[in-house]
Amino acid sequence: MSEKYLIINAGSSSLKFSLYEVPEMKEIVNGYIEKIGNVDSFYTLKFNGKKLEKRKAIMDHTEAVRTMLEELLDNQFIVDVSEIKGIGHRVVHGGEFYSQSVVIDEEVLNNIKDLTKLVPLHHPGEIAGIESMKSIMPDVPQVAVFDTAFHQTMPRENYMYALPYSWYEENGVRKYGFHGTSHRYITEEMQKYFNKKDVNLIICHIGSGASISCIKDGECYDTSMGLTPLDGLIMGTRSGSIDSSIIEYICKERSLTVEEVTSILNKKSGLLGIAGQNDFRDLEALANKGDEKAQLAIKMLRNSIAKFIAQYYVELGGQVDALVFTAGIGENAITLRSDIIKSISSAMGIELDADANNNIARFKEIQSGVISTLSSKFKVMVIPTNEEYMILKDTFELSQQVKSKGQSKVLKK
Ligand code: ADP
Repeated sequence: MSEKYLIINAGSSSLKFSLYEVPEMKEIVNGYIEKIGNVDSFYTLKFNGKKLEKRKAIMDHTEAVRTMLEELLDNQFIVDVSEIKGIGHRVVHGGEFYSQSVVIDEEVLNNIKDLTKLVPLHHPGEIAGIESMKSIMPDVPQVAVFDTAFHQTMPRENYMYALPYSWYEENGVRKYGFHGTSHRYITEEMQKYFNKKDVNLIICHIGSGASISCIKDGECYDTSMGLTPLDGLIMGTRSGSIDSSIIEYICKERSLTVEEVTSILNKKSGLLGIAGQNDFRDLEALANKGDEKAQLAIKMLRNSIAKFIAQYYVELGGQVDALVFTAGIGENAITLRSDIIKSISSAMGIELDADANNNIARFKEIQSGVISTLSSKFKVMVIPTNEEYMILKDTFELSQQVKSKGQSKVLKK
């Protein structure tokens, strides 16, 4: 008999949720509550091809969770909350505590609270979501699926920064990496595709947030994001890696505080900072009309991606099974993909099949996703990511283990 599972992705002022029927893994409804904490908050519900939009002042995450449950009941997606057998939460930071998903108990919640100092924008909303669900449904297993977990296999020489060692020991300053659920999904898909566990991959997750991972023998060996998601590639609104001296210099020059500069590095930099536009579709349209800053931003993004691919190609000793593009830009930006491949093809012996690259959006449902030619040294692929599926799978498996064993700490593989 099928059971219902709820997946929650809480942001600082938003809450996304989806209700699934398992084992069919069928989505019944999804919703998006925005502007929490604001009198003009609103939300949308999508189900059976329909879209409902509502306005209501939702002042905190507890109220958002109550609104979500009321909608699930009012629209008869559930008859009683007891139908929900497990709740999965996307949690941004698991620090060094977690290398896989876990059932949330008191200790896990305290660790997530402790990690708020590393991601102050993300964790408060996530914690509020977990605590609200716990107060309403105390007996239903809640599972934390961490963005950092998959990257915990990185060797020390790849995750340490060359800073005083005590900063690592006493303050946890090291590279953690993010988008781990997406990188794990792609790795598992590639393990099925190549029919082996020990795949070597370079995975480019290029969306509004962007990161590249180097997968060696099926495990994360290196990744572009760092202590926080600000590091690495140029992104929609984030700067990516910069010379850290810029912070002190610009604080003095423009009379800004460190907090103000950090906020600008996260929210007003990247493609937006260069060209005034962070949505890649709009940026491409501007570039095609001859806007020089838009053209510059796209070239900078291309180079930033190509440099990480080149670094990881070397880290893998050239032994790569596939270079994979995923997420909003990676899956859809045909010209950017082609420009990236052009800039690295002669160095790496890879060759793009222009026809496959142009038509991948049309064919990706029914073909393998390969966009390189047969003579290419290794495969270049486009694979749609599915983080939600991974969160659901972990939540289902861990909730089943709780049910059968009474209590279980981590996901048993
Ligand atoms: P996130 O999940 O980090 O919000 P997404 O993975 O949804 O990001 O990616 C969003 C980005 O993908 C946006 O910059 C958007 O413009 C871009 N994108 C979506 N569709 C296309 C498309 N058809 N062509 C180019 N870029 C696209």
